[in-house]
Amino acid sequence: MRVAVFSTKPYDRQFLDAANAGTGHRLTYLESRLTLETVAVVDGADAVCAFVNDDLDAAVIGALADAGVRHVALRCAGFNNVDLVAAAANGIAVSRVPEYSPHAVAEHTVTLILALNRKIHRAYARVREGNFALDGLLGFDLNGRTVGVVGTGRIGATFARIMTGFGCRVLAFDPQPNPDCEGLGVRYVAMAELLDACDIVSLHCPLTPRTHHLIDAAAVARMRMGAMLINTSRGAVVDTRAVIDGLKSGRLGSLGLDVYEEEADLFFEDLSSRVIQDDVFARLLSFPNVLITGHQAFFTADAMRAIAETTIANLTEFERHGRPVHTVSVEKLA
Ligand code: NAD
Repeated sequence: MRVAVFSTKPYDRQFLDAANAGTGHRLTYLESRLTLETVAVVDGADAVCAFVNDDLDAAVIGALADAGVRHVALRCAGFNNVDLVAAAANGIAVSRVPEYSPHAVAEHTVTLILALNRKIHRAYARVREGNFALDGLLGFDLNGRTVGVVGTGRIGATFARIMTGFGCRVLAFDPQPNPDCEGLGVRYVAMAELLDACDIVSLHCPLTPRTHHLIDAAAVARMRMGAMLINTSRGAVVDTRAVIDGLKSGRLGSLGLDVYEEEADLFFEDLSSRVIQDDVFARLLSFPNVLITGHQAFFTADAMRAIAETTIANLTEFERHGRPVHTVSVEKLA
């Protein structure tokens, strides 16, 4: 198949080329994001391969269909950036990589918790300047603390298992409880009770209309004074302005983000010589108790290899049988 691969970096090419060896797919790598402005470059492609911040709204889907594209192969798990109704209406199959390494994201989540709690981001900078004072670096034992997991699918369940290893009591909220978690001793509770009871709340649900701004001002107000909030799922699960207010009031003791609702204009690019135009994001950067990474939770060699192999398998299966291995259907929106 001829495949236009959007939003690519050298590391994407490395892993996709290795997975594609011998398959016959012709991959054209494009650095640009897929948007209505860039969609014209797909000319002649049978499929497009897209990533988390590519824009696949109804207008882009319509333009892809007009250009003869029949398959959108997402090289990620989340599919919130695709208008699945428009894809179905235009006869475009959508595939994704539902599972590549839940460990990569779960371990990064733990990295954010440990670093925030023990103020590693501040300690690192201090020691390099010859400042060995401990004021302001006080943390707490994770052992015995209560951790809330919102969404106990593949990543949330892996994260919950790790946290039980630290000796934490784990509470969870998920409309579909996971028996593996129950077996670990995780207790399912209502969202309100989770917010009330937890020292750390970590988000692992998909972004859907129901989870958009799941953490809003009311949710922040319910959280324990000084609680830690971690989001490695999708940015818009959190209302950023509400958490900024929570940080200013002290209701939120710390915030760890790997995702941000307006990240498409920022993440995955070197903007270090430019002035950041997003004032909300700039405000987040100003807090000493906020740690942000630029959507890197998935970024391990193991995960990249698995993502590339599943993406190529989706393309191959679609070419052979007209249906990818891991189809995303409209029903998934529910
Ligand atoms: P998954 O589908 O295995 O699990 C998602 C879980 O969320 C399911 O158990 C589902 O029942 C639950 N859920 C759905 N609606 C909910 C709600 N309203 N409240 C609470 N739980 C709800 O997905 P996964 O592989 O565990 O991934 C979770 C999310 O992590 C993805 O959707 C994606 O957005 C994000 N993700 C981020 C990165 C990263 O690099 N930061 C990488 C991969 C995935």
